[in-house]
Amino acid sequence: MPLLERLDRAGHLRKDTDRLLGALDAPTTLLVPTWRNQTFVSPEGDALALPEVASSGTLIDRAGEIAWLGQLEGRDCFAVDLSELEDPMQGVLSGIGTFADLRIVGGRLTPAEAEIAAYALGLLRWHRHNRHCGLCGGRTEPKEGGHVRICPTDGERFFPRTDPAVMVLVQHGGRCVLARQHGWPEGMYSIIAGFVEPGETLEEAAARETFEELGLQIDNLRYFRSQPWPFPASLMTGFIAEATSDAIRLDSEELETARWFTREDLANPRGFYYPPAYSLAHHMIAAFLSTPSRTT
Ligand SMILES: [Zn+2]
Repeated sequence: MPLLERLDRAGHLRKDTDRLLGALDAPTTLLVPTWRNQTFVSPEGDALALPEVASSGTLIDRAGEIAWLGQLEGRDCFAVDLSELEDPMQGVLSGIGTFADLRIVGGRLTPAEAEIAAYALGLLRWHRHNRHCGLCGGRTEPKEGGHVRICPTDGERFFPRTDPAVMVLVQHGGRCVLARQHGWPEGMYSIIAGFVEPGETLEEAAARETFEELGLQIDNLRYFRSQPWPFPASLMTGFIAEATSDAIRLDSEELETARWFTREDLANPRGFYYPPAYSLAHHMIAAFLSTPSRTT
């Protein structure tokens, strides 16, 4: 049964430690197991698998970290990190699902399921990478349902991080640019992207990345939509822009190649492919395909 209802993050309940401890014991509480950046899905890979504490409560004892995600249909929902186990499928999870890469299965999940998976993966990875204080090096402790880590020595508080990044679908004369990074699977092309730097707006980052990677100036920049991309910790923001010319000057350190594609090229890809349905890049290319060309 695919999950359609969105998770309620209910941030106002995170500080109620007694309630959260009680929820960890409640048989109907739901668990979101993750293992080494993989998410737990049905055996067919077409739905998020959410075992209950009643059947899978022993996972809580085996987890490296636990974080409260919120409430789903009135039931508390905890992410459990099983990354320290060599074989997380030994025991209660056996037979009820499998671990998979969200980038591969995400297109088969509902948006509500994909959000929970991305939330759990991002939050638990942040815990694994923030076990020590950046000031004194001492061990930090999770608080508030796993939404902050505090250093007991100096009181420094560390919050989960999301790194903003921009993705720019650059168009000119009815075509758009797709590029390949070095080392990508053969034939794969995507939209250029890069991280926002300190002190920079999203718009500035979009213009800078386009110029750095492709040597193109852009105008008429408009926002498309955003997507959490917990690989490892990004918030990808999508933009569409017009290039002032089609003369690409490639940054060959960053990119292997880049070229212009017509809608006909993208509608019937031959000898190349672009990212699968879960990704923002896919949605942006689909939107480009469904928009009539204004210049041809
Ligand atoms: Zn410290």
